[in-house]
Amino acid sequence: MSLNILFAARPERWTVYEKPLRDALRAAGITAKLKLDIPPSEVDYIVYAPNSTLQDFTPYTRAKAVLNLWAGVEKITGNTTLHIPLARMVDPGLTKGMVEWVTGHVMRYHLGLDIDILHTGTDWTPRTPPLAQERKVGILGMGALGAETARTLVNLGFDAAGWSRSAKSEPGVKCFHGDQGLQDVLARSEILVLLLPDTPATENIINKAALAAMPDGAFIINPGRGPLIDDDALIGALDSGKIAHATLDVFRIEPLPAEHPYWAHPHVTVTPHIAAETRAVTASQVIVENIQRGETGQGFLHLVDRTLGY
Ligand code: NAP
Repeated sequence: MSLNILFAARPERWTVYEKPLRDALRAAGITAKLKLDIPPSEVDYIVYAPNSTLQDFTPYTRAKAVLNLWAGVEKITGNTTLHIPLARMVDPGLTKGMVEWVTGHVMRYHLGLDIDILHTGTDWTPRTPPLAQERKVGILGMGALGAETARTLVNLGFDAAGWSRSAKSEPGVKCFHGDQGLQDVLARSEILVLLLPDTPATENIINKAALAAMPDGAFIINPGRGPLIDDDALIGALDSGKIAHATLDVFRIEPLPAEHPYWAHPHVTVTPHIAAETRAVTASQVIVENIQRGETGQGFLHLVDRTLGY
């Protein structure tokens, strides 16, 4: 039997994904029509990006699953026309990219690299770099990305703590959950990394009270989602020096509007949502593995709980 797989993403993504998806299907021995346009009632699987023009899933009566190309699903979880399983992207290539990006920025803050790189003049005052074991890093969100980041930071020697909704155990990582757990992680984090999804429960989690609970002069790194941060509260904390510096990759409005105060703020680094990109070859293997599981009656991997929003 041949499957009909609809590729529902922006046309420029087709040029990136067509060959890796066809290669992965062939390697798995799956015969399929993979196309940009298939009559909805004939589609078996939908490979999907939330910024696709496909927003009404009602006519896709035969489809068995929507397989998301993105890790973030906040733009699709509220779609009331979607009644079939939705899998988010957990891509080893994307995870590696995120771990490297976060580790780089943690190192930058930990070692004070900006001070060294921007060093001018002839001052020869030695500044002994601290050791990772003396640095407390907190990670909000201990999912696919947060847990792997925490493992890497622990391997480098950092005193790392993670916070999640459910209780976790991760060798070498101090694991917290629940409201008190959040307070405990905030209070100890000299460097705080946000790797939570954007859901009603996480919006503005970094608000005035959360920032006040952090150590003076702490650093914030946000590759999660823009709405995790109350922007006015963060700007206030940066202005007062309570927060020394923030590296922000994601924003409520993207691209970040030219007039937004983050652009010109001396204590903010803005990056244009580049922390981690889905990698076509590894992501295609993940998509095809899920199709294979669907066809053999095994449960889909990385299913989204739409009541929780992630
Ligand atoms: P994930 O595997 O779903 O992990 C989410 C983590 O957040 C889990 O540990 C979860 O706790 C925790 N969490 C969710 N809601 C919570 C709450 N209310 N209170 C406490 N903890 C909560 O997601 P992921 O793959 O690691 O990705 C995380 C986010 O990164 C994505 O949602 C996306 O927004 C962002 N992202 C950004 C980029 C970029 O380029 N900037 C790239 C990829 C992803 P449990 O473990 O208890 O469920």
